[in-house]
Amino acid sequence: MSHPLKVIIAGAGIGGLTAAVVLRHIGCEVEVYEQAPTLRTAGSGLSVMSNAVAALSSIGVNLNLEHFGAPVKCVEIRNIKDQLIRELPIPEVSSSNGFDSVCISRKALQEALLKQLDKNIIHVGAKVTQITESDEGVSVHFADGRETQGDLLIGADGFYSFVRDYVRGNQPIREADYICWLAITRYQHPQITPGYVAHYWGEGKRIGLIDIGGGEIYWWGTANMPTEQATHWQGSHRDILSYYEGWPDIVSDIISQTPSEDIISVAAQDRPFSSLWGKGRVTLLGDAAHPMLTTLGQGAGMAIEDAAVLGHMLKQQADPVAALRRYEEIRIPRAEMFVDISYTQSELEQQATPSSCQEREDALRFEPAENLRENFEQLLKFPVNELGVISK
Ligand SMILES: Cc1cc2nc3c(=O)[nH]c(=O)nc-3n(C[C@H](O)[C@H](O)[C@H](O)COP(=O)(O)OP(=O)(O)OC[C@H]3O[C@@H](n4cnc5c(N)ncnc54)[C@H](O)[C@@H]3O)c2cc1C
Repeated sequence: MSHPLKVIIAGAGIGGLTAAVVLRHIGCEVEVYEQAPTLRTAGSGLSVMSNAVAALSSIGVNLNLEHFGAPVKCVEIRNIKDQLIRELPIPEVSSSNGFDSVCISRKALQEALLKQLDKNIIHVGAKVTQITESDEGVSVHFADGRETQGDLLIGADGFYSFVRDYVRGNQPIREADYICWLAITRYQHPQITPGYVAHYWGEGKRIGLIDIGGGEIYWWGTANMPTEQATHWQGSHRDILSYYEGWPDIVSDIISQTPSEDIISVAAQDRPFSSLWGKGRVTLLGDAAHPMLTTLGQGAGMAIEDAAVLGHMLKQQADPVAALRRYEEIRIPRAEMFVDISYTQSELEQQATPSSCQEREDALRFEPAENLRENFEQLLKFPVNELGVISK
């Protein structure tokens, strides 16, 4: 092709923006279309694990995330008596990959991505409502009557993806019957040292406390409840506190100090995995392709890996449509593994009876160190060798 490949990206979330950074980096012409009237800056925190940072590095992109968030130094799993169940080898495995895992606010991650992009390529208030393909290219129509053409369309339009419906029809939602509360707050406590992460496991409830740098702590809590109640949650932080009565003081302290209006709630949900990600000149990326429960903290990380692999394939293959199919072929097994592990781990972590919680605690406490390390290596190691490229 004599002209640069023109790629249209639907959605300016973490997945869409990362794809834009990677595809611009390899010389594509890129247009990003976001349905919201402005780029969303609110939101909570995220972990961008070592595998995602390695994926970007493999294609020559470095977001310098350590300057935007907090590199992970210690990850503890504790019970509600405040006893340490196990320290997880995430910092060591990340370092052995050559890349820290970083905890960061969504806002800061978005800033890090936008820093790499010319803002003129991002079009807001543009909701994709129609897709038409021909031998020459793909046309995308928007709710306000706008239209654009390109060589390829990447559906990075999230959990309720229009592009996914175009590719594979409507997919069922799998409700997990628990709520997630999320907040970022300024908070200091001697337990929370730089790069500290603690997950507290209770009966049908959990809390995570995460340093994201700059004096800010990202905390999330979960509690089993019917999806209907979780979806329409209207409670205050006092109501949330009532779920954690008798838990370590740090838990009630941080919740009490967070204004109600700063706490977001979402019902936990994913979709059963599907291996149909694309057709013709269209493919999917991020939550549009593989929405997963949050247990592994890898939803955004998988979107970032997708973007890197897509970049490698478009660089390697002369035929862009063949590159999309090769991208899907490479990504599907690993994405499916993450969706499945997130689901089974979520069931384990939301166990609600004293006996099953004790079993869960014992299983983690007595897991041989080498097994634990191998499990994390499988998750945190970006499989760059499978791409036929030399790691940078
Ligand atoms: C409670 C919770 C905690 C999480 N914690 C972590 C974590 O610690 N680590 C981690 O890696 N991941 C985490 N995740 C997952 C992570 O947030 C998502 O996997 C990730 O943000 C997905 O990014 P995305 O770009 O694919 O989708 P989204 O962020 O949903 O972006 C999709 C974008 O597309 C736009 N859009 C939708 N439809 C259209 C349309 N028709 N036309 C144009 N634009 C459209 C949307 O407005 C949106 O901006 C968490 C998720 C939740 C819910």
